[in-house]
Amino acid sequence: MGAPGSGKGTQAQHLVSRYGIPHVSTGDILRKEQQQGTALGLRAKQIMESGGYVDDATMIGMIRNRLLQPDAANGFILDGFPRTVAQAEALAKLLIEIESPLDAVLLFEVNNEQLVKRLSGRRVCEFCKKVFNVHTAPPSVPPECVDGRTEHQVVQRADDSEDTVRARLRKYEEMTRRPVSGFYSYTGLMRTVDAEGDIDAVTQRMFDTLAAGSGKKTAPAKQKKRAAVRRAKARKAVKKVRRVIRKLAKKVAVKRSAAQPARKAKRKSVRKPARRPAARARRKSKR
Ligand SMILES: [Zn+2]
Repeated sequence: MGAPGSGKGTQAQHLVSRYGIPHVSTGDILRKEQQQGTALGLRAKQIMESGGYVDDATMIGMIRNRLLQPDAANGFILDGFPRTVAQAEALAKLLIEIESPLDAVLLFEVNNEQLVKRLSGRRVCEFCKKVFNVHTAPPSVPPECVDGRTEHQVVQRADDSEDTVRARLRKYEEMTRRPVSGFYSYTGLMRTVDAEGDIDAVTQRMFDTLAAGSGKKTAPAKQKKRAAVRRAKARKAVKKVRRVIRKLAKKVAVKRSAAQPARKAKRKSVRKPARRPAARARRKSKR
């Protein structure tokens, strides 16, 4: 997990090379399913073309397909999912079903103003999509990314304007960081990584956090053994995650009933008088 601009995608690549497991990003999955013209891919395409967001059921179906590929048998790095508590719950159910529980949830934290600076400083070549940033030293933004080729104009995308960036970060904070990290803190899987400053230093902190969490480093030779242990752990995790889901479901139920007192009151007034006198009458007649 991490805000846009937190560098989690870059760090995911370091995890790929260290652990030899695939980087599973929802963006890549969407593109691939659409290219292959699968039923899920076509559904997602229709939704996106009409300007909507791909629903959780479609997304989780695609993630399921991806995680069942042979290269993910020894593990995977999930990037960009879950973004909401509903997605986190759907993912928990999926991982129970395929007996592949999470080992850790990494949260990359960067100061908000730093993120605004990073993102609003981004410039992209319109032609080849190469990315530059006005805040790197020295600033690396040429007018054209290939000298003398006017089609290679380096511009700021609308998505990277300061107002849009702030709106994106607010949405991340409200929909993702606060609720989803809350969800995972129940499971004891959360690891927070200070993602400010030098990229290599962030990578080092990430590996340190993971090593501290598990108490040991994973050599590639141990991965098969770990897969077996993983399946054994899955059964234990099933119970734990179900407990968490039940807890959250209760919370949501409490919130809902607080938000809709009118409806609840109405239900009470309709049902209870109808039942109780009947029950009382029955009890009386027994006596
Ligand atoms: Zn270019």
